Amino acid sequence: MFIIWGSRGAVVDLGQVQTALCPVCERERSFHLIVQYRYFHLYFIFGAITQKVYWLVCAVCHRGTKLSAATAEQHLSKNPIPFMHRSGLLALVGGAVMLIGTMIGVQALLALLGAMN
Ligand SMILES: [Zn+2]
Repeated sequence: MFIIWGSRGAVVDLGQVQTALCPVCERERSFHLIVQYRYFHLYFIFGAITQKVYWLVCAVCHRGTKLSAATAEQHLSKNPIPFMHRSGLLALVGGAVMLIGTMIGVQALLALLGAMN
């Protein structure tokens, strides 16, 4: 059995948050909040975040400043990172633990029923 795993990166544009003078363009530009993240993955499906950086970037030249997660996340109503990228690995491990627990429970029940006969 092949186990496919690795690390991938992604960027999510969270939309325009303000207009300001861009020091690179030297013009009034709209600035977007973006989140750039890396995640460990298993089979490209089950992920776990390893790195997350928020940026406030100019919509034209894509230059900008890094924001602290606390500052950036107060503008967000929900987590912008897809569930399977941030919690997929946890869901997989949780599912496996529940499956093993169920199997142990069924084995115990069968052993109990066998002992009664
Ligand atoms: Zn610019």
